[in-house]
Amino acid sequence: MQYDYLIIGGGIIGLSAAWQLQQRYPDSRILVLEKEPQLATHQSGHNSGVIHAGLYYHPQSLKARFCQEGALAMRDFCQLQSIPYQQTGKLLVATDQLEYQRMQALYARCAENQVAVKWLTIAELNQHEPNISGLGAICIPNTGMVDYKLVSQHMARCFQSMGGEIRLNSHVMAIEESSKEIRLQTAQDEFHGKQLIVCAGLMADRMVEMIGLNADFQILPFRGEYYRLPNELNDLIQHQIYPIPDPELPFLGVHLTRTIDGGITVGPNAVLGLHREGYKKFSFSGKDTSQILSFPGFWRLLSQNLKPGLNEIKNSFYKPAYLKLVQKYCPQLQLGNLLPHPAGIRAQAVLNDGTLVHDFLFKQTARSLHVCNAPSPAATSSIPIGAYICDKLQAPV
Ligand SMILES: Cc1cc2nc3c(=O)[nH]c(=O)nc-3n(C[C@H](O)[C@H](O)[C@H](O)COP(=O)(O)OP(=O)(O)OC[C@H]3O[C@@H](n4cnc5c(N)ncnc54)[C@H](O)[C@@H]3O)c2cc1C
Repeated sequence: MQYDYLIIGGGIIGLSAAWQLQQRYPDSRILVLEKEPQLATHQSGHNSGVIHAGLYYHPQSLKARFCQEGALAMRDFCQLQSIPYQQTGKLLVATDQLEYQRMQALYARCAENQVAVKWLTIAELNQHEPNISGLGAICIPNTGMVDYKLVSQHMARCFQSMGGEIRLNSHVMAIEESSKEIRLQTAQDEFHGKQLIVCAGLMADRMVEMIGLNADFQILPFRGEYYRLPNELNDLIQHQIYPIPDPELPFLGVHLTRTIDGGITVGPNAVLGLHREGYKKFSFSGKDTSQILSFPGFWRLLSQNLKPGLNEIKNSFYKPAYLKLVQKYCPQLQLGNLLPHPAGIRAQAVLNDGTLVHDFLFKQTARSLHVCNAPSPAATSSIPIGAYICDKLQAPV
C-alpha cells in the first residue's frame, strides 16, 4: 500500500505534524515510524517542561514567531485535551553588572518581540521571591509549565482517532527518493509513500545524509544534566527562576524550574555528550564520538568556546561548582539539596564552519521535508511548527 505521507520520528514535532496533516486532509493515509518502543522517548520526554513566552529570540526569527504562537496554541490544546498545565510566570535574575546590562537588552527585546514584561527592582524581587537574590529581575508572566511527554501522547491519540497509523519499534535504516515515490526500509518492512517528513531530532543529520542531501551541518549532542530539590523545598519559589543567559550561546543557563508534578528541578547545564542517546553520565558511543571528532565544525566551535566548554565539564563532574551556579541567585541551597534527576540530550545543529544554528532549520527535496534543527523552544512551538510543515507539503492527489 502507498501512503500519502510517511513521517519518521514519534517525538512532539513528528506527532504535531501528523495530527495536523490528518486534520487538514482527513482522507489521506499517514504513517508515523518511531524506532523506540514508546513515543517521546528522547528530547520530547526529557526536558524542562517550560512553556516559553519567546523573549530571547531575534525578532525576525522563526523561533520568535513560533514560540509566541506556540505558547498560546499549547495552552488551548491543553485546555481542550484536559492536560494539566500552569501559568507560573518566570523571573530572569541579574546577579552582577554584566548580567544587569544583558538584562536591559533582554527587556528591550521583549518590547521588540511584543512579549509582556515587568521590570523588578531589588525590593520588588525580594517581595516576589524572598528566597532569590540579585540586583533586579524582569518578570515574564506569560510563562507556563506542562509535561510535554503527555502532550505528545495526546497529539498521537488525536492523530490515531482520525485514522492515522503509528508503528513503534520501527527503525528506518534506508531512505530512497525517486521521481515517483519515497521508499523506507526498516529491519522488518518496506514502506512506500508520496511524501516524507523527517523529524528525527538527534538523528536529523544522519537522515539528511541517508536521502543524499548535502549535509552542511552536524548534530552535536549537548547533555542537559539536572538535579531535583527535596520535596520539603517545593515552596522555595513561586515562578520559574532563570539566570541572564550569554547571548552568544543557545542555552538558557541552569535554572530552577517548577514542574507540573509539584517539584522543582535544577538545571540543565550544557555539556558535550559522547553518546547521542546515552543518558547515563559516562555513556559513550564509538560511532558518535568519532563522528564528533572528525567534524571540522566541532573543532572550530571548540576553539571559539574553549573556556565555557571547560567550565561546563567542570560543573558536570564537580557538584560544588554546579551548585555555585544556582547559589548565585538562590544562596540558601546546599549540596545535600541536589538530588539525582534524569538528564536530557539536546540536538543542536552546528554548521561546518563551527557556527551554532540558533534558529529552527528545515531542508526540502522534491518529496521530502527535513526538520534539521529544532532545539528549545521547539516543544513550546510544536503546534505552529507542525502547521508550517503542513503548509510546505503538497496536498495529496
Ligand atoms: C534538556 C532539555 C530541556 C529542554 N527544555 C525545553 C523547555 O523547557 N521548553 C521547550 O519548549 N523545549 C525544551 N526543550 C526542547 C524540546 O524538548 C525539543 O526541542 C523537542 O522535544 C524536539 O522534538 P523532536 O520531535 O524534534 O525530537 P525528539 O523528541 O528527539 O524526537 C525524535 C524522534 O525521532 C526518532 N528517530 C530518530 N531516528 C529515527 C529512525 N531512523 N527511525 C525511526 N525513528 C527515529 C527518535 O527515536 C525520537 O523519538 C528541551 C530539550 C532538552 C534536551
